[in-house]
Amino acid sequence: MFGFAMGLLDLDKIIIKRTILGIRCSACGGNLVLTHKQSIAGRVLKLASFGTLSPKNYECESCRKKYLLLE
Ligand SMILES: [Zn+2]
Repeated sequence: MFGFAMGLLDLDKIIIKRTILGIRCSACGGNLVLTHKQSIAGRVLKLASFGTLSPKNYECESCRKKYLLLE
């Protein structure tokens, strides 16, 4: 089940990190800001992990690229 979720997540731009400190957009180096929109990938991952993971969605301030962080 988890492998299945990870397969889906590959469709999105994903960063898996313990902390968001120092994380910058890999495309343009801009700041990442927290968004309140839950992505489909994030929702699937949360379900697949039975709530043990809480994916947070970030968006680059500059180029609007989406990131999903797992804490
Ligand atoms: Zn960017």
